[in-house]
Amino acid sequence: MTRLPTGTFREARIDTDAIADNVRHLRRLTDSEVIAVVKADGYGHGAARTAAAALAGGAARLGVADIAEGLALRRAGIDAPIVAWLHAPDESFAQAASARIELGISSFEQLQKAAAASAGHPVSVHLKLETGLGRNGIPPEDCGRVFAEAARLERIGRIRVVALFSHLSNASPDADRAAVRQFLDASGAAASAGLAPPLRHIAATHAAIDLPEARLGCVRIGIGMYGLSPFSDRTSADLGLRPAMTLRAAVAAVRRVPAGQGVSYGYDHRAQRETTLALVPVGYADGVPRHASGTGPVSIAGRRFTVAGRIAMDQFVVDVGDTAVSVGDEVVLFGDPTLGVPSADEWAAAAGTINYEIVTRIGPRVPRLGVGS
Ligand SMILES: *Cc1c(COP(=O)(O)O)cnc(C)c1O
Repeated sequence: MTRLPTGTFREARIDTDAIADNVRHLRRLTDSEVIAVVKADGYGHGAARTAAAALAGGAARLGVADIAEGLALRRAGIDAPIVAWLHAPDESFAQAASARIELGISSFEQLQKAAAASAGHPVSVHLKLETGLGRNGIPPEDCGRVFAEAARLERIGRIRVVALFSHLSNASPDADRAAVRQFLDASGAAASAGLAPPLRHIAATHAAIDLPEARLGCVRIGIGMYGLSPFSDRTSADLGLRPAMTLRAAVAAVRRVPAGQGVSYGYDHRAQRETTLALVPVGYADGVPRHASGTGPVSIAGRRFTVAGRIAMDQFVVDVGDTAVSVGDEVVLFGDPTLGVPSADEWAAAAGTINYEIVTRIGPRVPRLGVGS
């Protein structure tokens, strides 16, 4: 039976070769350059490790939400272009500019602040257009004014407009097509205003795979790079992707109990007959969703079991029947299902959420172990 290395209690193994392969696969499929999205600590996989693997797989640029995430990548020694697109209201952009972080710009005011942060060299910006998602982005009625000002600031060397971009709702193919059309119209207006950005990007993984007209030669890839599917009706394998994260733990205690034994808080589960209970030392503090109490899948000794009773902060119990299980045996919560273990998608279904949330919320108490070349 598989045992974890001595001293390992809980662990998220991150297969960096899978990340690089997934980027390669999506570059080829989309025939586009890839902005690898490593926000939120690389969706829980580790931002710097993911960034390095994505660049090895041919990503041209990295994407983050916050400037602080970009600065952390610079501190980790990552030199590639980085774009950050979600800013605090009082953000000055000075630190970002000196660290060569490119800025997603969603308003006239942000554009002026970006220009003000240029200290001798132009600040690179990606102008974000609102095309129907209802979040940030320059609204259509402001585009004329912002484009004219951006062209002026570019001429005097304060900014460089690297890209126009937007983000899709995935509400329906028609809604996404309409947003792409609106985006292309706005690109035409930007050209008339004197802007000639080398890049345009609107597709995240979903549209990069499913909506060829949204690729535009540059796509922002998050979930697909981690080997997970953004579609409820297609698995990772269906898309030619390999999940990069395996969440596992070592059985912390085993006990034989009589029929009727209550299990975990509230006794939501009771042993039907004499059975063996295995204690798994991960809980909701580690991102294992409490909503999956009684339903979350695990694999122990190559066999599937289900969480018995409630998931607690630090641990949960599995009723393994008469299977021989010992303290120290490996429990896999999720990984690559083609290897016979449960998937992050199954945990998402068990918890009523999406695979993005399952991997991203794995907590800081779980050590990440990068494996790969
Ligand atoms: C998170 C994010 C992405 C990545 O989306 P995936 O569905 O994970 O590929 C792309 N663009 C923006 C603006 C985002 O916020």
